[in-house]
Amino acid sequence: MARRLPRKDVVIVGLGWTGSILAYELSRSGLEVVALERGPWRDTASDFNIGTAADELRYAVRHDIFLRPKQETLTMRNNPSQTALPIRKWGSFLPGNGVGGAGVHWNGQTWRFLPDDFRIRSHMIERYGEAILPEGNQIQDWPVSYEDLEPHYDKFERVAGISGKAGNIKGEVQPGGNPFEGARERDYPTPPMRQGYAQELFTKAASGMGLHPFPRPSANISIAYTNPYGCSMAPCTYCGFCERFGCANYSKASPQTCVLPALVREPTFEARTECEVMHVNLSGDGKMATGVTYVDASGEEWEQPGDLVLICAYSLFNVRLLLLSGIGRPFDPATGEGVVGRNYAYQTGSGSTAFFEDAKFNPFAAAGSLGAALDDYNSDNFDHGPHGFVGGANITCAYTNGRPILYHPTPRGTPTWGSAWKKAVHDTYQRVTTVGAQGSVMSYRNNYLDLDPTYKDPLGRPLMRMTFDYQDNERKMANWMADRCDEIAKAMGAKTTQIGRLVGPWSVVPYQTTHNTGGTIMGSDPRTSVLNRYLQSWDVPNVFVTGASAFPQNAGYNPTGTVGALTYWALDAIFDYLKSPAPLVQP
Ligand SMILES: Cc1cc2nc3c(=O)[nH]c(=O)nc-3n(C[C@H](O)[C@H](O)[C@H](O)COP(=O)(O)OP(=O)(O)OC[C@H]3O[C@@H](n4cnc5c(N)ncnc54)[C@H](O)[C@@H]3O)c2cc1C
Ligand code: SF4
Repeated sequence: MARRLPRKDVVIVGLGWTGSILAYELSRSGLEVVALERGPWRDTASDFNIGTAADELRYAVRHDIFLRPKQETLTMRNNPSQTALPIRKWGSFLPGNGVGGAGVHWNGQTWRFLPDDFRIRSHMIERYGEAILPEGNQIQDWPVSYEDLEPHYDKFERVAGISGKAGNIKGEVQPGGNPFEGARERDYPTPPMRQGYAQELFTKAASGMGLHPFPRPSANISIAYTNPYGCSMAPCTYCGFCERFGCANYSKASPQTCVLPALVREPTFEARTECEVMHVNLSGDGKMATGVTYVDASGEEWEQPGDLVLICAYSLFNVRLLLLSGIGRPFDPATGEGVVGRNYAYQTGSGSTAFFEDAKFNPFAAAGSLGAALDDYNSDNFDHGPHGFVGGANITCAYTNGRPILYHPTPRGTPTWGSAWKKAVHDTYQRVTTVGAQGSVMSYRNNYLDLDPTYKDPLGRPLMRMTFDYQDNERKMANWMADRCDEIAKAMGAKTTQIGRLVGPWSVVPYQTTHNTGGTIMGSDPRTSVLNRYLQSWDVPNVFVTGASAFPQNAGYNPTGTVGALTYWALDAIFDYLKSPAPLVQP
């Protein structure tokens, strides 16, 4: 039996990127806010100290700060005819656990989606006709436009200190930036990172091919910066210990670097860590949330009443919490009805590995977002007519790291151990780079999330089941992109190249990206979406859900820039809701 606690104005589930931003903004407006976080408290000074942060074995190999599968995992299958089995070791994606969430160990590649991405269904039909849309798709326009989100992208970029070069300010194309981006009000808050030799070769080769390279927007910041919350950041040292690590140098934007120092000073804010929210509690008629029930580290159950419940638990766990709480009707792929779990999507990866004869790339001088990119083949920036697929990818030449344990690229066919392997690592380490395409994934009826009928977690709740595979459209797109990457790699002067295509069923084993999207999608119609355009639940208006679970499908970019923009967009709506508590959109 849960013990009942005093009521709070706002209960936040999860203290990662979106939870910490909402917690700060709402508590500084005077509201009583409690954030419940299933993992431990984490600070830069104590947890990511300069002497211990760069421990590859502890963090990158042994996953020290990630979610442990024994705490919570998913079952997975490629299609509905299979029986799903539990993921017992995280591989393809690495969910966060603890204060800061996945925002602690992310890379920091911080993109805005393109204007066409927000109305991709209408746009593609207008330009090419309905026949271009892939079989079985459930592609939907977003209920917000790029223009709606522009000021909110700007807000997130300012809080995170993003380093980059604008490509379009107020409609004027800017030399050196991304000419395809939507118009922005002003430039990034800090200038782009310094590029390495491989990026220089990429930029020269791509420009020579008539393409439009630019420095990738980065949350590893280039110069000292103080954000609007008064949090100070230091310039990145290109140490190459971003992805899977906390930054010891206060250079990578994260909740720890950019929000928590301000948040912990707010007297009306309280954080409770090692508290796992089990479900949202509903009123008798199921129409309002009354709070949440959680279990603390000692196994004791508590009921935390609250007027407003904000679910900020990362996209996958947002979906599970709604399913466990009975908020919204679960999606049924057999009938196409129901909404929770609908339109789960991911990201494609393909490209070319380029081996040079004489180059010295120094891959150890790296950072999670260091890279030169181009968008000529993203979204609908090129003519899709002859290719027969929807979607696109950003193409990037980057070094996230050159670390000793896991970074040892060798040519295909090299033995995986012994003296021949050692020689290949020695010969290759300085002379290899990649041109990679990170692509969109559309939404389909057979890619979805629901509760597993068999497997349960330690608290007795059903695990979430993921049913996902790449469809022909994504394979075609990713493999076409791989050829574009290879053209660029050859133009850079590579002696040999190896193309990496998207083949075989999607696998949970090798790391790909932690860019899981969909499942609580936003939309204009409650029959095909869980949330309205303000991330408010259609069914329970005092519940808002933040994160990439709101994306109707995924674009050819990393998600967090758009996740941050949507969080600030929803924040304005939450203030409106608090003035007049009611659905913000009438169905
Ligand atoms: C290795 C890696 C690299 C990445 N690189 C990039 C990148 O370069 N660019 C990019 O755009 N994105 C990147 N991402 C993704 C990025 O980290 C996420 O998009 C972002 O952190 C999402 O923010 P969020 O607030 O939705 O979730 P999170 O930041 O993950 O926060 C969610 C929090 O909720 C907590 N929680 C979950 N369930 C419960 C519960 N039931 N009760 C209590 N607490 C709960 C979790 O412990 C977590 O702390 C990367 C992710 C990883 C793992
Ligand atoms: S590369 Fe830069 S941002 Fe990344 S961990 Fe090192 S100092 Fe921090």
